[in-house]
Amino acid sequence: MIRRVWLYTANVPMAAAFDHATRSRRGAESLLVEVELAGVRGWGEGAPRGYVTGETLDGAAQAVRRCDPAALAERIDWRTFDSAVASLAALPLPELVDGPSAAAAVEIALLDAVCRHFDRPLADVLRVLDPPRRVLREGPTAVSLVIHLSRDVASVLDALPPGALAALRHVKIKVADPAGAVRRLAQARERLPADARVSLDANGTWSAAEAERIAGELAGVAWVEEPLPPRSWAELGRLRRATGLPVMLDESCTGPDDLRTAAASDAASHINVRLSKCGGFLAAARLALRAEALGLGCQLGVHVAEVGPLWAAGRTLATTWGMWQTVEAGRADEWFPTPLTRPAFAVDRSLHRVGPLAGPGTGIEPTGELLRHTRCLATWEPDGEWRRSA
Ligand SMILES: [Mg+2]
Repeated sequence: MIRRVWLYTANVPMAAAFDHATRSRRGAESLLVEVELAGVRGWGEGAPRGYVTGETLDGAAQAVRRCDPAALAERIDWRTFDSAVASLAALPLPELVDGPSAAAAVEIALLDAVCRHFDRPLADVLRVLDPPRRVLREGPTAVSLVIHLSRDVASVLDALPPGALAALRHVKIKVADPAGAVRRLAQARERLPADARVSLDANGTWSAAEAERIAGELAGVAWVEEPLPPRSWAELGRLRRATGLPVMLDESCTGPDDLRTAAASDAASHINVRLSKCGGFLAAARLALRAEALGLGCQLGVHVAEVGPLWAAGRTLATTWGMWQTVEAGRADEWFPTPLTRPAFAVDRSLHRVGPLAGPGTGIEPTGELLRHTRCLATWEPDGEWRRSA
């Protein structure tokens, strides 16, 4: 059933850099997989980020080339949409494709292709997980405003039109040193409506002692994302017991094993669910359901500079389930002023909302601008091996 597979890297320069405590990003570095079934093509994307999962773009590309599309195709029951989705959902992707971003690229491409083949939107795939009714809520959803490290919190908020400031439901602030974090939180609280929530993202840069010392000054924070070095389970548990600080795990939690350890050590109140670091659309959705069942809150996050399939698949989760404490949209419209997808990435920045995309599949196609910045590394056809591109 799989006629052809293409593996690409996309290197797209960003119009503006994005900074956080450990990294500054100036360009997109995504892995793209394109799968052709009879008459339709699906696109998937992975965002390997060394500082999140230890992955590299080269390593993730090699992981895709080590997987055998014929073996994958054999395990998919192509007869109906439901049977194809159920068999895809049952694939042990972490065993078949090494590394979360490579797995995400392959999985999203296959799901997109299956949806297009049966003319169904990606949202219909989520039914295979049989989510509890309480998590369902279709329609436009509020997204957070993210203020990165090199931006002054006061100036960003003061520059918003009054209506846009009043409409803010969640502001996420990138922080580095603890004293600066307290100052940035205060600047936001002074300007925001009382019902808007503020979270801080320290990207693992605080020591346990620093975090404990300033926790009292962070009263009113919705949560602190990744305050300590990743997977400091015992220290995170101690910090939470000693201070009651709400803690969201991001780099520390990429899958069910991390979630189990986090719950057992009481290391978190919240989890940041991002498709690429979690290994794909269904893996991310499953992790969110598991976290919710454990009583943990979930943010649906993005990786900086996702070029298309990742943000579109995330958009589907954002607008099909209402379980999210907050949703990040990213800023693809500002980072990539010439649209990389059709329809173009869009966020209503006066109401801080995003709406659902119309299917089938993820609902997006790559534009010439995206294709101009992609390089085909290899192709696969059913007669055998992956072939390196010239
Ligand atoms: Mg984070």
